Amino acid sequence: MSDACLFCKIFAGQIPTTKIYEDEKVLGFKDINPLAAKHFLFIHKEHTPTFSQMMEIDPQQALDVLKAIKKYVADSKMEEEGFRIVVNQGHFGGQTVAHTHFHLLGGSPLGPFGEQGK
Ligand code: 5GP
Ligand code: ZN
Repeated sequence: MSDACLFCKIFAGQIPTTKIYEDEKVLGFKDINPLAAKHFLFIHKEHTPTFSQMMEIDPQQALDVLKAIKKYVADSKMEEEGFRIVVNQGHFGGQTVAHTHFHLLGGSPLGPFGEQGK
């Protein structure tokens, strides 16, 4: 846990959020500014700032998060309907919170991916 980190504060219960999934290692919650009909964020409870660091330090964390997402979509309509997973990293990626998070988007048809930044 990093005291200064917004997402660590969320799983520590210091900042209120709408949880949609939780297990020993992973938390899933609603994005405060949804960009799709369903927009959730999945984080590992270990504080790791970027996806690259996660893969260097403990790639099992990424697997824990992806398994949690798989469970969540299988238990909801999303697996059937389809969905998108996005990880942003760094300046060009548009990462704004330095605790690695996986966006899960869906709930209605999504637009074409990656039109920005041509
Ligand atoms: P990034 O741009 O770093 O990939 O994504 C950060 C996401 O966190 C954004 O989609 C933003 O809306 C979301 N976010 C920022 N602050 C909060 C918050 O306090 N609560 C929740 N639930 N989401 C947040
Ligand atoms: Zn954190």
